[in-house]
Amino acid sequence: MINFEYTRASAISDALRVASSDPNAKFIAGGTNLIDLMKQNVEKPTRLIDITHLPLKEVEDTPSGGLKIGALVPNSDLAYHPTVEARYPLLASAILAGASGQLRNMASTGGNVLQRTRCFYFYDTTTPCNKRKPGSGCSAIRGINRQHAILGTSDACIATHPSDMCVALTVLEATVHVAGPSGERSIAFTDFHRLPGTTPEHDTNLQQDEIITAVELPAKGFAERYTYLKLRDRLSYAFALVSVAVGLDMDGDTIKEARFALGGVAHKPWRDPLAEGLLQGQPATEEHFAKAADMLLRDAQGHGHNDFKIPLGRKAIIRALTQAANGTPQSQSDKKIA
Ligand SMILES: Cc1cc2nc3c(=O)[nH]c(=O)nc-3n(C[C@H](O)[C@H](O)[C@H](O)COP(=O)(O)OP(=O)(O)OC[C@H]3O[C@@H](n4cnc5c(N)ncnc54)[C@H](O)[C@@H]3O)c2cc1C
Ligand code: SF4
Repeated sequence: MINFEYTRASAISDALRVASSDPNAKFIAGGTNLIDLMKQNVEKPTRLIDITHLPLKEVEDTPSGGLKIGALVPNSDLAYHPTVEARYPLLASAILAGASGQLRNMASTGGNVLQRTRCFYFYDTTTPCNKRKPGSGCSAIRGINRQHAILGTSDACIATHPSDMCVALTVLEATVHVAGPSGERSIAFTDFHRLPGTTPEHDTNLQQDEIITAVELPAKGFAERYTYLKLRDRLSYAFALVSVAVGLDMDGDTIKEARFALGGVAHKPWRDPLAEGLLQGQPATEEHFAKAADMLLRDAQGHGHNDFKIPLGRKAIIRALTQAANGTPQSQSDKKIA
């Protein structure tokens, strides 16, 4: 049994004041990840700051033609928002590939970005885990690591970031807006999540007393040529073994701009400008897609059980780029569950 205080914040300033006064306090939004972690004794906050009554539930057009998504917008509402469906179908598709209808109704935009790894050793408090208990060791490196990372790993941790939404946000070059005791700041999405290095206990560059207020998308949404391809053990309700988000800008058969990122393979969505650069100005052929895939995966390294992710990732990139180039994204089309 964990004893904790509960506070419901009625203003962002309230939430920040309480978080600053208690270094073991945690914000709670939908609770779909945090409560599970508390039940497993992985997270032990001394105080929960309920942020669900804060005014962070709007989806608004920005003056520059983009979209600002409040941190408390539920995943379902975001995926079915008319502007997201029309202008950012890659984002809608990635969200709908995740979890279940009921979970997406509860899960918030900010909570999705901050969800923690699904490494089962992280959840199992009887095993060593550097992310849960720094310095205790990593059970996955020589353990069962089928779900684990092949890129950007360290000797301390080989966990993956499990979010689908974040892979699309990486390709869309989103910005995360945060507020903290010393004011507001914005973090480019690619700089938000960290690689494990020697401090795998830190998933992101957000401080404990900072709150995500919004995620902003620039105008470019790749609505014509996009794909979110998720490969997993079951067709639904499973985390990605490998996923690929793609946005292409084409002039006839020639690629003007290519963006693609892999999910399920690293501590953060994995995007590589060198791989994307290989496609610029090139015809959309399997040969060029294969070269780009090889470039993105050039430093990939398996740990035994997850070696299969390297050829799987290569094939997934080629298939996703092909689907996007053909304008056949094969998006998810789940109906919203009330
Ligand atoms: C069975 C199951 C299957 C799932 N499958 C998938 C899947 O396939 N793909 C996928 O992407 N996800 C999946 N998820 C994860 C789900 O998407 C996340 O649990 C959800 O997005 C978290 O959002 P939340 O609002 O419930 O976060 P919470 O659980 O409320 O919070 C998560 C973390 O974020 C922090 N936090 C929340 N909001 C803020 C904020 N605004 N500012 C600062 N900190 C904040 C909390 O302190 C906490 O540390 C699955 C979850 C479950 C339980
Ligand atoms: S991979 Fe990371 S999260 Fe998993 S056991 Fe190792 S240190 Fe812990």
